[in-house]
Amino acid sequence: MVQLSTGDMLRSAREAGTPMGLRVRAVMDRGELVSDAIVSALIGEHLDGIGAGAIFDGYPRTQPQAEALEMLLEERGRKIDHVVELVVDEEALVTRITGRFTCAKCGAPYHDSLHRPKVDGICDLCGGTEFKRRPDDNEQTVRTRMAEYREKTAPILPFYEAKGLVRQVDGMAAVDAVSAAIDAILDV
Ligand SMILES: [Zn+2]
Repeated sequence: MVQLSTGDMLRSAREAGTPMGLRVRAVMDRGELVSDAIVSALIGEHLDGIGAGAIFDGYPRTQPQAEALEMLLEERGRKIDHVVELVVDEEALVTRITGRFTCAKCGAPYHDSLHRPKVDGICDLCGGTEFKRRPDDNEQTVRTRMAEYREKTAPILPFYEAKGLVRQVDGMAAVDAVSAAIDAILDV
């Protein structure tokens, strides 16, 4: 399956430095959510190439986005099979997000306290010595993002519950256990 991450799409848009990218950058750096119209336009562009299926990561986040996605999929004769809800403790989530970083060379994910490289400063996978952090992974931005999630995103769960699509996964379990739980859902 293709992974469609709106975060990745938005980051590449803002790095492209286009007029839309600059708008995206200003909004993201404040920790706010990019408008539904922009996100839906980006998703629509990517939907035609999904082949066997896709995993939406970070989308839809609002009721209007959920409704827009229904239409985008219907136009292409596709539908949603599962909505995975990762149930988390908010304080622990702040720790997880503010500590994460990636290898600048191969993109391997690491964390200050939860998953350090085996040798400090050297990527386990490629031996790279440069790492990077997302500028929006600071505590204030994370708190703002969580408030936005509670206010705008969590309320769309009933929309999918009514369709019988929501599968809850304990997001506080170990990474391997969370992955296995999601795999089991997708294999059904
Ligand atoms: Zn690496």
